[in-house]
Amino acid sequence: MSEIIPIIGGGPAGTASAMNLLREGFSPVIIEADTFPRFHIGESLTTECVDGLNRLGLAQQLKKLSAPRKKGVRIFSKYPENSFYVGAGDAWQVERSKFDHMMLNEAIQRGAKHIVGRVDSIQKNKNLWNISIQTVKGEKKLESRFVIDASGQKRFSQKQGLFGGIKDGIYAHQIALFGHFEGVKHQPMDMHDTLIFHRENHAWAWMIPLSETVTSIGLVLPIEDFKKTGLTMDDFLDQNILTFSEPLMSRIQGTKRLEKVRAASNYSFTMDEYCREGLFCVGDSHRFIDPIFSFGVQFSVIEAEYAAKAILACSQTDYSKWSPIHEGYMQTTTQAQDVVQDILAYFWKHPWGFANMAHQRHADEFLEIFAGRIYEKTPRKGLLSIRKTLYEA
Ligand code: FAD
Repeated sequence: MSEIIPIIGGGPAGTASAMNLLREGFSPVIIEADTFPRFHIGESLTTECVDGLNRLGLAQQLKKLSAPRKKGVRIFSKYPENSFYVGAGDAWQVERSKFDHMMLNEAIQRGAKHIVGRVDSIQKNKNLWNISIQTVKGEKKLESRFVIDASGQKRFSQKQGLFGGIKDGIYAHQIALFGHFEGVKHQPMDMHDTLIFHRENHAWAWMIPLSETVTSIGLVLPIEDFKKTGLTMDDFLDQNILTFSEPLMSRIQGTKRLEKVRAASNYSFTMDEYCREGLFCVGDSHRFIDPIFSFGVQFSVIEAEYAAKAILACSQTDYSKWSPIHEGYMQTTTQAQDVVQDILAYFWKHPWGFANMAHQRHADEFLEIFAGRIYEKTPRKGLLSIRKTLYEA
């Protein structure tokens, strides 16, 4: 019988981990606290994310979601001459409730076990992890050499004290308020792009068409700017998208919000260590930078590939030799996240320089980065130049 690997969380990190582990001959057990389908934010995918999904043989399943293709990201500054477009390759904009449900069903169909329940403790006993799960039928226990923590922003194993503390990310203390709308006046190409509208002070909005009729709209800004108004989330979002910027306003006159406004805040964090003794954090459970350029689901899906390979490598060697494999997993995944962090820092600090790089000086490299090709070991010229400006100036 193949080795059981518990996976805490059934979002994209958990289900992609399960499908990759099945390929390597393991028996993943996905433990998910929520009942699917459930709402989740994070609707714009990158090309590299979709390539990772295609490598899992999910091309047909993605097509069946009938979601709009995503060709690029259009960025509207408050100065029209500083607005620009970056091709993203060929990806999708998806309703996460449907996408995540498809991923979970697919993992189960391929052989993953699914437990509806909440993992409430994890402990190391000699070389084994002991996991306790609360289900409606009572407590369940699992014991295994390897565990994947894919618990997202809940950061299960970090909160259990298995890793050090977290550090605020650069974009901590932000709030995102968002909802699905109908009646948006789409302009040509809107259906195939993620639209970003930005102002100074890390204030920006997104518009992501999810179908002919439904569009996701969100506003992101420092939490204090929201709190000091005293407005409800519904009123704040409705009023502020109407005055945020001309290109946004022109699209949303007469739109109707389809649901109550939801919010996410304080989501930007990082932690130094996120893999030890067979326990691997994948996706949001160990780091989240910022959603503006839509890399979150990609990190989950691609890190799942690296984690499965690392687990296979560990399983083929002695416990005493696992440490460098863990280090390798953390190095590769941190390096890629750092690319996104630096690109973002440059975007906010030097928006004009960013537009120039994306359109002229390093257009090809930016195209690759926006498509999510960020796992190269040696940084290319554009990235080196950005880092020089950010860290040596
Ligand atoms: P999640 O999708 O959060 O899944 C974690 C799962 O674990 C959940 O289902 C939860 O119920 C379960 N869980 C947690 N704890 C337990 C437990 N103890 N026991 C059992 N189950 C548990 N990303 C993009 O790619 N594109 C975007 O456009 C985008 N926009 C975003 C906008 C905002 C405002 C924010 C905040 C994020 C955005 N993201 C975006 C990021 C994206 O949402 C996440 O990166 C992605 O969902 C991470 O996937 P995950 O599987 O790691 O975590």
